[in-house]
Amino acid sequence: MTYEELKYRQGWTLEQKIDHVVSVVSAFSAKVNDKIYCSVSGGKDSGVMLDIIRRFIDKTVPAVFCNTGNEYPEVVKFVRQTDNLTIIHPNVNIRQIIDKYGFPLISKEQSRYINQAKHTKSEKLLHIRLYGGEKGIGKISERWKFLIQAPFDVSEKCCDYLKKKPFEKFHKETGLYPIIGTMACESRLRFQKWLKHGCNSFESRMIASYPLSIWTDNDIWAYIQKFNLPYSPIYDMGIRRTGCMFCGFGCHIQNDNRFYFLKSHKPKIYYHFMQMTNNGVTYKEALQYCGIDF
Ligand code: SF4
Repeated sequence: MTYEELKYRQGWTLEQKIDHVVSVVSAFSAKVNDKIYCSVSGGKDSGVMLDIIRRFIDKTVPAVFCNTGNEYPEVVKFVRQTDNLTIIHPNVNIRQIIDKYGFPLISKEQSRYINQAKHTKSEKLLHIRLYGGEKGIGKISERWKFLIQAPFDVSEKCCDYLKKKPFEKFHKETGLYPIIGTMACESRLRFQKWLKHGCNSFESRMIASYPLSIWTDNDIWAYIQKFNLPYSPIYDMGIRRTGCMFCGFGCHIQNDNRFYFLKSHKPKIYYHFMQMTNNGVTYKEALQYCGIDF
């Protein structure tokens, strides 16, 4: 896969993209003996993916939602209306994870790099995180290097414990493989994953289908309009992304309003999250330390 190929496919019409989802999922399903499920989050992307699969391929494909306890109540209420839905849960809570590993700030990739630079005993890894490996890859961005000295940790681990592990457990128990509604345009990490394995991954560690990889936000809204698909009311309240309410990944980006939204619409939840601590530092203090407007 190449960047040019992604750009080309992103330029396809909505109909071509729907056909593409159908062929990607059908190929994946055939390879895993029809043992598939749709991972849904209550957000618009996985809602569209589930609709395409049930409308054009097989209406009996089960949906699975992981309730981490940190999603917007509107999203949980909305996703609960899905037919043939299984709800799974992590066996740890967010406070325990933050306390042990650190806050989910900046991005999945950068928080992992910063955490490694802070705690690794390997000179080689530290050098890569500070100055980059081959072709300068794997480096902490200059803007965030000061976080290596921060009196708290940042980490990507909460996704592992709150989402990845419950889904892995579900797979072990049922033998079903996931279809996941992420798009390559959402982050560098997702783009790199798509470059590596395309829309279906059969790597032993992560057998999964990503049929929306070549879609964009505009395609999602166009599909919703075309089929008059219901979506969570949270989007009409001014929220651009669903997922965990307090997640700090991407919150430094200009005009991001998630914490303002939380403060004005759900003040109790806002204050609850702002008091979570890592190494005695509250989330509020960590955001201040990072210079993030909240
Ligand atoms: S989305 Fe953010 S807050 Fe939620 S589990 Fe993943 S890293 Fe943690």
